[in-house]
Amino acid sequence: MHSAAVDRVIAEVERARDEIVDFAARLVRIPTVNPPGADYEACASVIGDQLRAHGASVHLLPALGRVEHTPEHPRINVVGRHDGVSNGHAIHLNGHFDVVPVGLGWTRDPFGGEVEAGRLYGRGSCDMKSGVAAAVFAAEAIRRAGVRHAAPIEISGTVDEESGGFAGVGWLAEQKWISHERTRAVIIPEPFGVDRVCIGHRGVYWFEVIAEGRIAHGSMPYLGVNAIEGMSHFLDLVRDELGPALHQRVTAMPVVPEGSRRATININGIDGGQPVDDVPSPCVADRCRVVFDRRFLLEEGLEKARTEIAALLQKAQARMPEVTFAIADRLIFEPTQAPEDAPLIGALTRAIEKVTGRAASLVASPGTYDQKHVARIAGVPQCVAYGPGELALAHQPDEYCSVDDIISCTKVLALAVMELST
Ligand SMILES: [Zn+2]
Repeated sequence: MHSAAVDRVIAEVERARDEIVDFAARLVRIPTVNPPGADYEACASVIGDQLRAHGASVHLLPALGRVEHTPEHPRINVVGRHDGVSNGHAIHLNGHFDVVPVGLGWTRDPFGGEVEAGRLYGRGSCDMKSGVAAAVFAAEAIRRAGVRHAAPIEISGTVDEESGGFAGVGWLAEQKWISHERTRAVIIPEPFGVDRVCIGHRGVYWFEVIAEGRIAHGSMPYLGVNAIEGMSHFLDLVRDELGPALHQRVTAMPVVPEGSRRATININGIDGGQPVDDVPSPCVADRCRVVFDRRFLLEEGLEKARTEIAALLQKAQARMPEVTFAIADRLIFEPTQAPEDAPLIGALTRAIEKVTGRAASLVASPGTYDQKHVARIAGVPQCVAYGPGELALAHQPDEYCSVDDIISCTKVLALAVMELST
Protein backbone atom coordinates (compact mmCIF):
# COMPACT_ATOMS: atom_id res chain seq x y z
CA MET A 1 0.00 0.00 0.00
CA HIS A 2 1.16 3.49 -0.76
CA SER A 3 2.19 5.10 2.51
CA ALA A 4 0.91 8.54 1.46
CA ALA A 5 -2.54 7.00 0.96
CA VAL A 6 -2.31 5.33 4.36
CA ASP A 7 -1.51 8.65 6.02
CA ARG A 8 -4.34 10.42 4.17
CA VAL A 9 -6.90 7.79 5.24
CA ILE A 10 -5.77 7.95 8.87
CA ALA A 11 -5.99 11.76 8.74
CA GLU A 12 -9.52 11.60 7.32
CA VAL A 13 -10.67 9.36 10.17
CA GLU A 14 -9.08 11.71 12.69
CA ARG A 15 -10.78 14.70 11.04
CA ALA A 16 -14.15 12.91 11.18
CA ARG A 17 -13.78 12.06 14.89
CA ASP A 18 -16.81 14.06 16.10
CA GLU A 19 -18.96 12.98 13.16
CA ILE A 20 -18.25 9.32 13.88
CA VAL A 21 -19.06 9.60 17.58
CA ASP A 22 -22.20 11.68 16.85
CA PHE A 23 -23.38 9.05 14.40
CA ALA A 24 -22.77 6.21 16.89
CA ALA A 25 -24.65 8.23 19.57
CA ARG A 26 -27.59 8.78 17.20
CA LEU A 27 -27.81 5.03 16.65
CA VAL A 28 -27.71 4.39 20.42
CA ARG A 29 -30.68 6.78 20.85
CA ILE A 30 -32.88 4.51 18.70
CA PRO A 31 -34.09 1.79 21.09
CA THR A 32 -33.79 -1.22 18.77
CA VAL A 33 -34.50 -3.69 21.56
CA ASN A 34 -34.68 -7.37 20.68
CA PRO A 35 -36.92 -9.02 21.65
CA PRO A 36 -39.30 -7.85 20.27
CA GLY A 37 -37.28 -6.13 17.51
CA ALA A 38 -38.36 -2.51 18.04
CA ASP A 39 -37.58 0.50 15.81
CA TYR A 40 -35.63 -1.48 13.24
CA GLU A 41 -37.08 0.55 10.37
CA ALA A 42 -36.00 3.86 11.94
CA CYS A 43 -32.48 2.60 12.58
CA ALA A 44 -32.08 1.08 9.12
CA SER A 45 -33.20 4.42 7.63
CA VAL A 46 -30.70 6.45 9.66
CA ILE A 47 -27.87 4.14 8.55
CA GLY A 48 -29.16 4.22 4.97
CA ASP A 49 -29.34 8.03 4.93
CA GLN A 50 -25.79 8.31 6.22
CA LEU A 51 -24.49 5.87 3.60
CA ARG A 52 -26.37 7.73 0.87
CA ALA A 53 -24.84 11.01 2.05
CA HIS A 54 -21.48 9.30 1.58
CA GLY A 55 -22.33 8.53 -2.04
CA ALA A 56 -23.18 4.85 -1.62
CA SER A 57 -26.08 3.18 -3.42
CA VAL A 58 -28.44 2.03 -0.68
CA HIS A 59 -31.05 -0.72 -0.40
CA LEU A 60 -33.48 -1.07 2.50
CA LEU A 61 -34.35 -4.76 2.58
CA PRO A 62 -37.32 -6.14 4.53
CA ALA A 63 -36.75 -9.82 5.39
CA LEU A 64 -39.67 -11.00 3.27
CA GLY A 65 -40.69 -14.58 3.91
CA ARG A 66 -39.33 -14.74 7.46
CA VAL A 67 -41.92 -15.37 10.20
CA GLU A 68 -40.21 -12.77 12.43
CA HIS A 69 -40.97 -10.08 9.82
CA THR A 70 -44.40 -8.81 11.00
CA PRO A 71 -46.35 -5.55 10.50
CA GLU A 72 -45.78 -4.65 14.20
CA HIS A 73 -42.07 -5.46 14.13
CA PRO A 74 -40.79 -5.38 10.57
CA ARG A 75 -37.31 -6.82 10.03
CA ILE A 76 -35.55 -4.23 7.84
CA ASN A 77 -31.91 -4.67 6.86
CA VAL A 78 -29.84 -2.09 5.02
CA VAL A 79 -27.01 -2.53 2.51
CA GLY A 80 -24.90 0.29 1.08
CA ARG A 81 -22.39 -0.13 -1.71
CA HIS A 82 -19.47 1.98 -2.91
CA ASP A 83 -18.66 0.73 -6.39
CA GLY A 84 -15.06 -0.05 -7.18
CA VAL A 85 -13.10 0.47 -10.36
CA SER A 86 -13.36 -3.18 -11.39
CA ASN A 87 -16.48 -4.30 -9.52
CA GLY A 88 -15.40 -7.85 -8.83
CA HIS A 89 -16.01 -9.51 -5.46
CA ALA A 90 -16.88 -7.06 -2.70
CA ILE A 91 -15.26 -6.41 0.66
CA HIS A 92 -18.22 -6.39 3.04
CA LEU A 93 -18.49 -4.85 6.51
CA ASN A 94 -21.50 -6.09 8.48
CA GLY A 95 -22.87 -4.97 11.85
CA HIS A 96 -26.07 -5.81 13.69
CA PHE A 97 -28.08 -2.91 15.07
CA ASP A 98 -30.41 -4.80 17.41
CA VAL A 99 -29.63 -4.58 21.12
CA VAL A 100 -30.59 -6.75 24.09
CA PRO A 101 -33.15 -5.47 26.63
CA VAL A 102 -31.97 -2.83 29.11
CA GLY A 103 -32.17 -4.87 32.33
CA LEU A 104 -31.66 -3.50 35.83
CA GLY A 105 -28.83 -1.55 37.43
CA TRP A 106 -28.40 1.43 35.10
CA THR A 107 -27.22 4.79 36.47
CA ARG A 108 -27.54 6.46 33.04
CA ASP A 109 -30.20 6.80 30.38
CA PRO A 110 -29.73 3.59 28.37
CA PHE A 111 -30.91 5.37 25.23
CA GLY A 112 -29.42 8.82 25.96
CA GLY A 113 -26.31 8.34 23.84
CA GLU A 114 -24.35 10.46 26.36
CA VAL A 115 -20.67 11.09 25.76
CA GLU A 116 -18.72 11.75 28.93
CA ALA A 117 -15.03 11.53 29.82
CA GLY A 118 -14.19 9.87 26.54
CA ARG A 119 -16.90 7.23 26.68
CA LEU A 120 -20.11 6.77 24.73
CA TYR A 121 -22.74 5.31 27.05
CA GLY A 122 -25.92 3.39 26.34
CA ARG A 123 -27.40 0.03 25.43
CA GLY A 124 -25.74 -1.04 22.22
CA SER A 125 -22.83 1.43 22.51
CA CYS A 126 -20.43 -1.50 22.82
CA ASP A 127 -22.49 -4.30 21.20
CA MET A 128 -22.37 -3.00 18.52
CA LYS A 129 -23.53 0.38 17.26
CA SER A 130 -20.06 1.89 17.64
CA GLY A 131 -18.89 -0.91 15.36
CA VAL A 132 -21.55 0.00 12.79
CA ALA A 133 -20.42 3.64 12.92
CA ALA A 134 -16.78 2.55 12.51
CA ALA A 135 -17.70 0.47 9.45
CA VAL A 136 -19.67 3.29 7.81
CA PHE A 137 -16.87 5.82 8.36
CA ALA A 138 -14.02 3.46 7.45
CA ALA A 139 -15.40 3.34 3.92
CA GLU A 140 -16.04 7.08 3.97
CA ALA A 141 -12.46 7.87 5.03
CA ILE A 142 -11.20 5.91 2.01
CA ARG A 143 -13.50 7.97 -0.21
CA ARG A 144 -12.58 11.31 1.37
CA ALA A 145 -8.90 10.47 1.01
CA GLY A 146 -9.50 10.02 -2.72
CA VAL A 147 -8.18 6.45 -2.75
CA ARG A 148 -9.30 4.49 -5.82
CA HIS A 149 -10.34 0.96 -4.97
CA ALA A 150 -10.77 -1.89 -7.44
CA ALA A 151 -13.21 -3.98 -5.41
CA PRO A 152 -16.60 -2.65 -4.28
CA ILE A 153 -16.90 -1.85 -0.59
CA GLU A 154 -20.22 -2.79 1.01
CA ILE A 155 -21.59 -1.97 4.44
CA SER A 156 -24.66 -3.66 5.88
CA GLY A 157 -26.67 -3.02 9.04
CA THR A 158 -28.70 -6.05 10.04
CA VAL A 159 -31.33 -7.18 12.53
CA ASP A 160 -31.80 -9.97 15.04
CA GLU A 161 -28.20 -11.03 15.70
CA GLU A 162 -29.09 -11.32 19.38
CA SER A 163 -31.82 -13.86 18.56
CA GLY A 164 -29.90 -15.92 16.01
CA GLY A 165 -29.69 -13.57 13.01
CA PHE A 166 -32.01 -15.57 10.77
CA ALA A 167 -33.88 -12.49 9.48
CA GLY A 168 -30.63 -10.50 9.39
CA VAL A 169 -27.36 -11.88 8.06
CA GLY A 170 -28.92 -15.33 7.58
CA TRP A 171 -31.53 -13.78 5.28
CA LEU A 172 -29.00 -11.59 3.43
CA ALA A 173 -26.92 -14.72 2.80
CA GLU A 174 -29.95 -16.70 1.60
CA GLN A 175 -30.85 -13.86 -0.77
CA LYS A 176 -27.22 -13.79 -2.02
CA TRP A 177 -26.54 -10.22 -0.90
CA ILE A 178 -23.61 -11.85 0.87
CA SER A 179 -22.39 -14.85 -1.10
CA HIS A 180 -19.25 -16.49 -2.41
CA GLU A 181 -20.30 -15.38 -5.91
CA ARG A 182 -20.06 -11.70 -5.06
CA THR A 183 -18.28 -11.33 -1.71
CA ARG A 184 -14.58 -11.88 -1.12
CA ALA A 185 -14.33 -11.17 2.59
CA VAL A 186 -16.53 -10.07 5.48
CA ILE A 187 -15.52 -8.18 8.61
CA ILE A 188 -18.01 -7.98 11.47
CA PRO A 189 -17.10 -5.16 13.91
CA GLU A 190 -18.28 -6.97 17.07
CA PRO A 191 -16.60 -5.68 20.25
CA PHE A 192 -13.46 -7.76 20.57
CA GLY A 193 -11.21 -4.75 21.23
CA VAL A 194 -8.74 -2.64 19.24
CA ASP A 195 -5.97 -5.23 18.99
CA ARG A 196 -7.83 -8.54 18.74
CA VAL A 197 -9.13 -10.29 15.64
CA CYS A 198 -11.76 -12.94 16.27
CA ILE A 199 -11.41 -15.83 13.84
CA GLY A 200 -14.45 -17.90 14.77
CA HIS A 201 -16.48 -19.65 17.44
CA ARG A 202 -17.39 -23.05 18.93
CA GLY A 203 -20.47 -25.00 17.89
CA VAL A 204 -23.87 -24.92 19.59
CA TYR A 205 -26.15 -27.88 20.16
CA TRP A 206 -29.35 -26.91 22.00
CA PHE A 207 -31.55 -29.86 22.69
CA GLU A 208 -34.48 -30.80 24.85
CA VAL A 209 -34.90 -34.06 26.74
CA ILE A 210 -38.46 -35.13 27.43
CA ALA A 211 -39.30 -37.74 30.07
CA GLU A 212 -42.80 -39.22 30.26
CA GLY A 213 -44.12 -41.31 33.12
CA ARG A 214 -47.65 -42.19 34.27
CA ILE A 215 -49.99 -39.99 36.30
CA ALA A 216 -51.48 -41.28 39.55
CA HIS A 217 -52.79 -39.89 42.85
CA GLY A 218 -50.08 -38.18 44.88
CA SER A 219 -51.07 -40.13 47.98
CA MET A 220 -50.33 -43.38 46.14
CA PRO A 221 -47.20 -42.51 44.13
CA TYR A 222 -46.28 -46.20 43.79
CA LEU A 223 -49.22 -46.54 41.37
CA GLY A 224 -47.66 -44.06 38.90
CA VAL A 225 -44.31 -43.42 37.25
CA ASN A 226 -42.68 -40.11 38.16
CA ALA A 227 -41.15 -38.38 35.12
CA ILE A 228 -39.16 -35.92 37.27
CA GLU A 229 -37.53 -38.82 39.05
CA GLY A 230 -36.69 -40.30 35.65
CA MET A 231 -35.15 -37.03 34.55
CA SER A 232 -33.07 -36.90 37.73
CA HIS A 233 -31.26 -40.03 36.55
CA PHE A 234 -30.32 -38.28 33.34
CA LEU A 235 -29.25 -35.12 35.20
CA ASP A 236 -27.05 -37.25 37.49
CA LEU A 237 -25.32 -38.72 34.46
CA VAL A 238 -24.80 -35.28 32.91
CA ARG A 239 -23.20 -34.02 36.13
CA ASP A 240 -21.18 -37.12 37.07
CA GLU A 241 -20.12 -38.54 33.71
CA LEU A 242 -20.56 -36.13 30.81
CA GLY A 243 -19.48 -32.95 32.64
CA PRO A 244 -16.06 -34.31 33.74
CA ALA A 245 -15.49 -35.88 30.30
CA LEU A 246 -16.19 -32.58 28.53
CA HIS A 247 -13.85 -30.76 30.90
CA GLN A 248 -10.96 -32.91 29.62
CA ARG A 249 -11.46 -31.73 26.02
CA VAL A 250 -9.62 -28.55 25.05
CA THR A 251 -9.78 -26.93 21.63
CA ALA A 252 -6.77 -25.61 19.76
CA MET A 253 -8.86 -22.53 18.86
CA PRO A 254 -7.74 -19.44 20.80
CA VAL A 255 -11.07 -19.02 22.64
CA VAL A 256 -11.25 -16.23 25.22
CA PRO A 257 -11.98 -16.35 28.10
CA GLU A 258 -9.82 -19.45 28.43
CA GLY A 259 -12.43 -21.41 30.40
CA SER A 260 -14.43 -21.67 27.19
CA ARG A 261 -11.60 -23.51 25.43
CA ARG A 262 -13.11 -26.61 27.01
CA ALA A 263 -16.29 -28.31 25.80
CA THR A 264 -19.22 -27.36 28.05
CA ILE A 265 -22.84 -28.16 28.82
CA ASN A 266 -25.36 -25.93 30.59
CA ILE A 267 -28.81 -26.81 31.91
CA ASN A 268 -30.88 -23.90 30.59
CA GLY A 269 -34.25 -24.72 32.09
CA ILE A 270 -36.48 -27.39 33.57
CA ASP A 271 -40.23 -27.85 33.56
CA GLY A 272 -42.07 -30.77 35.07
CA GLY A 273 -45.19 -31.92 36.90
CA GLN A 274 -47.75 -29.53 38.34
CA PRO A 275 -47.24 -25.76 37.98
CA VAL A 276 -45.76 -24.76 41.36
CA ASP A 277 -47.52 -21.40 41.60
CA ASP A 278 -51.07 -22.72 41.10
CA VAL A 279 -53.04 -24.57 43.76
CA PRO A 280 -51.52 -28.00 43.33
CA SER A 281 -53.56 -31.11 42.94
CA PRO A 282 -52.05 -34.31 44.23
CA CYS A 283 -50.58 -35.96 41.15
CA VAL A 284 -47.54 -37.94 40.20
CA ALA A 285 -45.58 -35.90 37.61
CA ASP A 286 -46.11 -37.58 34.27
CA ARG A 287 -43.95 -35.23 32.21
CA CYS A 288 -40.64 -33.41 32.61
CA ARG A 289 -38.64 -31.41 30.06
CA VAL A 290 -35.15 -29.99 30.29
CA VAL A 291 -33.40 -27.76 27.78
CA PHE A 292 -29.61 -28.09 27.48
CA ASP A 293 -26.97 -25.91 25.83
CA ARG A 294 -24.00 -27.99 24.72
CA ARG A 295 -21.08 -26.01 23.27
CA PHE A 296 -18.94 -28.33 21.21
CA LEU A 297 -15.44 -27.93 19.83
CA LEU A 298 -14.34 -27.87 16.22
CA GLU A 299 -12.34 -31.01 17.07
CA GLU A 300 -15.42 -32.82 18.44
CA GLY A 301 -17.98 -32.14 15.75
CA LEU A 302 -21.75 -32.25 16.00
CA GLU A 303 -22.18 -35.98 15.41
CA LYS A 304 -19.95 -36.93 18.30
CA ALA A 305 -21.80 -34.53 20.60
CA ARG A 306 -25.14 -35.98 19.54
CA THR A 307 -24.14 -39.65 19.76
CA GLU A 308 -22.77 -39.08 23.24
CA ILE A 309 -26.04 -37.56 24.46
CA ALA A 310 -28.05 -40.42 22.94
CA ALA A 311 -25.84 -43.00 24.69
CA LEU A 312 -26.21 -41.18 28.00
CA LEU A 313 -29.98 -41.19 27.61
CA GLN A 314 -29.94 -44.95 27.07
CA LYS A 315 -28.08 -45.27 30.34
CA ALA A 316 -30.74 -43.21 32.12
CA GLN A 317 -33.38 -45.34 30.46
CA ALA A 318 -31.75 -48.51 31.84
CA ARG A 319 -31.84 -47.04 35.34
CA MET A 320 -35.61 -46.41 35.14
CA PRO A 321 -37.16 -48.46 32.32
CA GLU A 322 -40.75 -47.38 33.14
CA VAL A 323 -40.01 -43.83 31.96
CA THR A 324 -40.01 -43.00 28.24
CA PHE A 325 -37.27 -40.62 27.14
CA ALA A 326 -37.06 -38.62 23.93
CA ILE A 327 -34.68 -36.00 22.50
CA ALA A 328 -35.68 -33.02 20.36
CA ASP A 329 -33.15 -30.72 18.68
CA ARG A 330 -33.77 -27.02 19.34
CA LEU A 331 -30.93 -25.14 17.67
CA ILE A 332 -27.73 -26.17 15.93
CA PHE A 333 -24.83 -23.98 14.86
CA GLU A 334 -21.69 -25.57 13.50
CA PRO A 335 -18.34 -24.27 14.76
CA THR A 336 -16.59 -21.96 12.34
CA GLN A 337 -13.05 -20.67 11.92
CA ALA A 338 -11.48 -18.49 9.22
CA PRO A 339 -8.32 -20.02 7.71
CA GLU A 340 -5.35 -18.57 9.62
CA ASP A 341 -3.52 -17.67 6.40
CA ALA A 342 -6.51 -15.70 5.01
CA PRO A 343 -5.43 -12.38 3.45
CA LEU A 344 -8.15 -10.76 5.57
CA ILE A 345 -6.35 -11.68 8.79
CA GLY A 346 -3.02 -10.46 7.45
CA ALA A 347 -4.54 -7.13 6.41
CA LEU A 348 -6.18 -6.58 9.80
CA THR A 349 -3.13 -7.55 11.87
CA ARG A 350 -0.90 -5.23 9.80
CA ALA A 351 -3.41 -2.40 10.20
CA ILE A 352 -3.65 -2.99 13.97
CA GLU A 353 0.14 -2.79 14.31
CA LYS A 354 0.26 0.38 12.23
CA VAL A 355 -2.53 2.16 14.15
CA THR A 356 -1.95 0.98 17.74
CA GLY A 357 1.76 0.19 17.67
CA ARG A 358 0.92 -3.13 19.32
CA ALA A 359 0.97 -6.67 18.01
CA ALA A 360 -2.46 -8.06 17.15
CA SER A 361 -3.69 -11.26 18.74
CA LEU A 362 -6.05 -13.81 17.23
CA VAL A 363 -8.92 -14.94 19.45
CA ALA A 364 -12.08 -17.01 19.12
CA SER A 365 -15.43 -16.27 20.71
CA PRO A 366 -17.04 -18.28 23.54
CA GLY A 367 -20.48 -17.66 22.01
CA THR A 368 -21.61 -17.47 18.42
CA TYR A 369 -22.39 -14.46 16.27
CA ASP A 370 -23.31 -13.86 12.63
CA GLN A 371 -20.07 -15.36 11.27
CA LYS A 372 -21.86 -18.73 11.19
CA HIS A 373 -24.30 -17.49 8.51
CA VAL A 374 -21.51 -15.97 6.43
CA ALA A 375 -19.50 -19.20 6.56
CA ARG A 376 -22.34 -21.74 6.22
CA ILE A 377 -25.04 -20.09 4.10
CA ALA A 378 -23.06 -17.55 2.08
CA GLY A 379 -20.09 -19.91 1.75
CA VAL A 380 -17.56 -17.13 2.43
CA PRO A 381 -14.81 -18.63 4.63
CA GLN A 382 -12.93 -15.31 4.81
CA CYS A 383 -14.90 -13.81 7.68
CA VAL A 384 -13.68 -12.47 11.02
CA ALA A 385 -14.87 -10.12 13.73
CA TYR A 386 -12.94 -6.98 14.58
CA GLY A 387 -14.43 -3.93 16.26
CA PRO A 388 -14.41 -1.41 19.12
CA GLY A 389 -15.52 -2.08 22.69
CA GLU A 390 -14.79 -4.60 25.40
CA LEU A 391 -16.64 -7.87 25.11
CA ALA A 392 -17.16 -8.00 28.89
CA LEU A 393 -19.29 -4.81 28.76
CA ALA A 394 -21.74 -6.20 26.22
CA HIS A 395 -25.26 -6.73 27.63
CA GLN A 396 -24.23 -5.11 30.97
CA PRO A 397 -25.82 -2.11 32.77
CA ASP A 398 -24.03 1.20 31.99
CA GLU A 399 -22.63 -0.34 28.81
CA TYR A 400 -20.13 2.00 27.13
CA CYS A 401 -17.53 2.20 24.40
CA SER A 402 -14.33 4.21 24.59
CA VAL A 403 -14.28 7.02 22.01
CA ASP A 404 -10.55 6.47 21.37
CA ASP A 405 -11.29 2.82 20.62
CA ILE A 406 -14.02 3.77 18.14
CA ILE A 407 -11.58 6.03 16.29
CA SER A 408 -8.70 3.51 16.38
CA CYS A 409 -10.95 0.73 15.09
CA THR A 410 -12.27 2.96 12.31
CA LYS A 411 -8.67 3.57 11.23
CA VAL A 412 -7.82 -0.13 11.36
CA LEU A 413 -10.93 -1.07 9.38
CA ALA A 414 -10.19 1.62 6.80
CA LEU A 415 -6.59 0.49 6.29
CA ALA A 416 -7.54 -3.20 6.11
CA VAL A 417 -10.38 -2.54 3.67
CA MET A 418 -8.10 -0.34 1.58
CA GLU A 419 -5.46 -3.11 1.40
CA LEU A 420 -8.06 -5.74 0.48
CA SER A 421 -9.91 -3.65 -2.08
CA THR A 422 -7.09 -1.95 -4.00
ZN1 LIG B 1 -23.13 -8.25 19.00
